Amino acid sequence: MNEHNKNTRIVVIGAGLGGLSAAISLATEGFSVEIVEKNDKVGGKLNIMEKDGFTFDLGPSILTMPHIFDALFTRAGKNREDYVSFEKVEPHWRNFFEDGAVIDLTPDKEAMRKELNKLGPHVADQFERFMAYSKKLCTETEAGYFAKGLDTFWELIRCYGPIRSLLSFDVFRSMDQGVRRFISDPKLVDILNYFIKYVGSSPYDSPALMNLMPYIQFEYGLWYVHGGMYGLAQGMERLAEELGVNIRLNTEVTEIRQDGNRATAICLADGQVLPADIVVSNMEVIPAMQKLLHSTESELKKMQRFEPTCSGLVLHLGVDRIYPQLAHHNFFYSEHPRHHFDAIFQSHTLSDDPTIYLVAPCKSDPKQAPPGCEIIKVLPHIPHLDPNKPLSPEDYLAFRERVLIKLERMGLTDLRKHIVTEEYWTPHDIQARYYSNQGSIYGVVADRFKNLGFKAPQRSSQLSNLYFVGGSINPGGGMPMVTLSGQLVRDKILADRAGD
Ligand SMILES: Cc1cc2nc3c(=O)[nH]c(=O)nc-3n(C[C@H](O)[C@H](O)[C@H](O)COP(=O)(O)OP(=O)(O)OC[C@H]3O[C@@H](n4cnc5c(N)ncnc54)[C@H](O)[C@@H]3O)c2cc1C
Repeated sequence: MNEHNKNTRIVVIGAGLGGLSAAISLATEGFSVEIVEKNDKVGGKLNIMEKDGFTFDLGPSILTMPHIFDALFTRAGKNREDYVSFEKVEPHWRNFFEDGAVIDLTPDKEAMRKELNKLGPHVADQFERFMAYSKKLCTETEAGYFAKGLDTFWELIRCYGPIRSLLSFDVFRSMDQGVRRFISDPKLVDILNYFIKYVGSSPYDSPALMNLMPYIQFEYGLWYVHGGMYGLAQGMERLAEELGVNIRLNTEVTEIRQDGNRATAICLADGQVLPADIVVSNMEVIPAMQKLLHSTESELKKMQRFEPTCSGLVLHLGVDRIYPQLAHHNFFYSEHPRHHFDAIFQSHTLSDDPTIYLVAPCKSDPKQAPPGCEIIKVLPHIPHLDPNKPLSPEDYLAFRERVLIKLERMGLTDLRKHIVTEEYWTPHDIQARYYSNQGSIYGVVADRFKNLGFKAPQRSSQLSNLYFVGGSINPGGGMPMVTLSGQLVRDKILADRAGD
């Protein structure tokens, strides 16, 4: 810890996992850190609600890459297990198709081969070759993009050289094209394409680099947080407080004060002004530029390529029966995935036949619901809010009905009759609660034509002492990535100060 750092005041705007991770990482280096969060608890989209005896994890449900969380605690001299523990989830996912086929994804190699043999004699071998390709993408990405916090394609080229950058990262092919180089079975294509769920984009638009995700999941495992996902936010909050981070809840930041090219303070909704030597924004880049920096049209135009990811219709259902056919994580596929993705990302409409992600957390943790009941959380991806294509409350309700009917048709008999309680979130709720850009749930979309899969840079282009963390900047959305962004921002701040 550097003693000189304690005279440097850092204000972090927002207590999502990105903000918490940045605050912990910077407090570990001895900086004087304060977090200002508009909501009544920390965690941001990692959120929780108790209703009628059911405990709903409102946001993320799949945890991968535990080593990223371990690194945060280890650098602070702590053991992550003393704050929050993770349990392995197996099988990883259960995949349901309209023709009745059911395929599990499991890290057990022999069991996985058996599952794939259901699809045909050569499918397991094709999968193995695909996984070798996925491993290569992941290894290259971890070495530079993740470890060094590379922020643009030019930084990537400087780090790896032009030929290796283009060949190793497969950024010009689409994810779907990358899958089809190895896999001929249409069901396995659908399964592997749907790993794009992790970043809320389309496999037809995102770069083939995104095919690193299956390797990440199989190599690092898929985890549940013991006692419920929100325990991760609580563990990080406890560590932040132990490190002396002051956390102000129910406090909205309305402006970042500037003097020349430097941020000098933040203004709060109640009129208070907090002076700051460095500001870290966990509010997404574009909303922060619009609301806190009052950026000009031309500055905002430069950010257009960082379009928001999809949003979601999130149904948290408490049901008074158990569906034994479900695993903890389940996918119910569209018959026409291309139409489904095009509805979300091209026409910005609600899909006629969506692919549905369904979480049944009581399979690992029955205590989340009363005896004899379980939680069915349903999350079909849908378009982010588009002012040119507004969707009405009736549109969302009709879509909810389509989703539930599809689930009933695919085996969840009488689902609608068994709902005893429900919490229902549209993109409007997501935007209002977290100030995410147009109700996006993962930050910036990965699109090979718009941004080659890169998100916005961590350093502000306007102010030299303003940095961003979270899903809208590199390395992107999802709990591990935003937590990594908090650690990478520490490295950037330390490097910038060393260079001053
Ligand atoms: C329904 C759903 C399912 C998901 N599923 C998964 C999953 O299974 N696995 C996974 O890894 N990820 C998943 N994600 C994505 C994951 O939740 C996010 O990528 C991650 O939690 C975002 O963290 P963040 O720090 O970037 O931002 P956020 O969590 O959005 O935090 C930003 C914080 O800043 C606060 N804030 C914003 N503006 C201001 C302001 N002006 N003043 C004060 N405070 C402000 C907000 O209130 C918020 O608390 C899911 C997300 C959702 C919504």
